[in-house]
Amino acid sequence: MIDENAKETYSFQTEVGQLLDIVAGSLYSNREIFLRELVSNASDACDKLRYEALTNPALAENSDQFSVSLEINKKAKTLSVSDNGIGMSHDDLLETLGTIARSGTGAFLESLKDGEKGELGLIGQFGVGFYSVFMVSDSVDVLTRKAGEEKSWQWSSDGKGQFTIEPGEREQCGTTVVLHLKKDAKEFLEETRVRHIIKTYSDHISFPVMLGVETLNSASAIWTRAPKDVTEEQHTEFYHHTSHAFDKPWLVLHNQIEGAVSHTSLLYIPSSAPFDLYDAERKSHVKLYVNRVFISENTNGLIPTYLRFLRGVVDSEDLSLNVSREMLQSDPKLAKIKTALSKKAIGALKKNASKAPQEYVNFWENFGAVLKEGLIEDPSLRDRILEICRFSSTHNGELTSLSDYIGRCKDGQDTIYYMAGEDANKIVHSPHLEGFKAKGVEVLLLSDHVDEFWLQHITEFEGKKFKSVTRGATDLDKIDSDQKVDDEKDDENSPALNDLIAAIKLELGESVKDVRPSKRLTDSPVCLIADDGDMDVNMERLLKQHGQLKDNMPRVLELNPNHKTVKKLAERAKGNEAASDALLKDAAHLLLDQARISDGKAPADPTEFVRRLNSVMYCAL
Ligand code: ADP
Ligand code: MG
Repeated sequence: MIDENAKETYSFQTEVGQLLDIVAGSLYSNREIFLRELVSNASDACDKLRYEALTNPALAENSDQFSVSLEINKKAKTLSVSDNGIGMSHDDLLETLGTIARSGTGAFLESLKDGEKGELGLIGQFGVGFYSVFMVSDSVDVLTRKAGEEKSWQWSSDGKGQFTIEPGEREQCGTTVVLHLKKDAKEFLEETRVRHIIKTYSDHISFPVMLGVETLNSASAIWTRAPKDVTEEQHTEFYHHTSHAFDKPWLVLHNQIEGAVSHTSLLYIPSSAPFDLYDAERKSHVKLYVNRVFISENTNGLIPTYLRFLRGVVDSEDLSLNVSREMLQSDPKLAKIKTALSKKAIGALKKNASKAPQEYVNFWENFGAVLKEGLIEDPSLRDRILEICRFSSTHNGELTSLSDYIGRCKDGQDTIYYMAGEDANKIVHSPHLEGFKAKGVEVLLLSDHVDEFWLQHITEFEGKKFKSVTRGATDLDKIDSDQKVDDEKDDENSPALNDLIAAIKLELGESVKDVRPSKRLTDSPVCLIADDGDMDVNMERLLKQHGQLKDNMPRVLELNPNHKTVKKLAERAKGNEAASDALLKDAAHLLLDQARISDGKAPADPTEFVRRLNSVMYCAL
């Protein structure tokens, strides 16, 4: 039989142990943040119990008087933080304070390795805030009782690899964290110091934080205050608390809406990208409250996935408190709130795009690729989203909006040209752009995965069609040029060129769909394009990358009739000895291979490529 009252000893899971070594040994100067983390946990615990009590009246005994109490004992040199929240069971303690790998720990350790020790302030962002207590404590006791359970437990550790759990004594549910302060951390026994820390970091906590009979914080939910009464510092602290973030919010969207579905939203757009932005689950991180009762951390159906960078809270008294989280998610009122929030967010972005274009570029670099998902996800707001999209282009190094692109269109240009690929810095040097550059026609350079997908759904903007420069005919002839273009071009349909084309087609056979004279090349001899109606080149690349496509699509090989090599080859192909001309045969393959190489691909057959290249070089020697 296991003795239920015995003291059990456990080892911290390896990553936690490593983290503790860093925390305990750090000379981090903002050590006071440990108190922010403890108060934040205490407040979360009260939120959780208040929610549980909604559906389990047995838990509701004291659910009106939640509070966090601090106690200083100068003699014992302890500081304790108590709450009357949800508390922890034996298993909760094991899972949350010690053994199981928490997803945040690894990421946090990585960030510490990269950066200064100053990054320790980020500890709360990675879901390991509790461990910050070891910056100031020799040892820590956690006395806790879970709501609805009989037994209390005491967790203790000196943060050096092990912790113990044993039965404890506690009258009410909740948790008390007792810090046995380090010698050099006695400052946290001073009331004025503690008072100041709470005011600085925890004023926004909606439960009273007490020191004796004194309430140290404002203790009213920050979003219920009039927007003008909330200071920038208060926003920043609340944002840190509610989003586990540590940057400053770039934008604050605080709206109190009265109407069919009244709701208050206090949303933040971060100034830097959170590390889980592309997590497969793509959860929202906006907390839902109903009439100031915390309901859920990430409610499906509250925030569209393309706005998942938003942080903050939404509170509505028009939603029902007495239904489960799952039922709430399918409440049509929630969908109304979602639409209203989406419009507000897009509206605010639009305003800031014109008011603070430089800051908007920073926003775009962080979240543009996410926002563009909205072009597919939310057809009803598609046009509004397109308006606030920004793109790299051949115009200059800066990002452009679509309307600015259209403002620069040439006479006769009824098309928005784009080239999509893996990397904007590489695409910009692609041969496909030569003719466009020569004519001064701007091309958008798209390098986010999502680009290829929204372009399947959206064919035009303000009456101009989107068209890939790697696909079909160019229509460049129709566009007036303001730059001097060399008009003394050779006839594209010269008999010599036709003979060359015939010879190449014969030699390359099935590996190309067609061979044609090009209008898009000025410097390079060849390029490969997708035929009208065929899958675009970049899409093919993406599908292959994801294993959804095996075979190569045969492409059209375009020849630059004005390139000196092509001209010479054409002369050589004149007449009909081509079929037996070994050099022409090699040249046909080498032309195809160099087109592949400039697209970032390997030659079709590397061994043959090397042989052919050498035999051609030999001829020239
Ligand atoms: P986070 O708060 O981001 O989850 P922490 O390291 O601060 O990370 O806390 C870890 C976990 O420990 C919490 O998620 C919670 O489950 C538990 N916990 C910590 N403090 C308390 C408390 N006062 N009451 C109940 N549970 C707590
Ligand atoms: Mg915490």
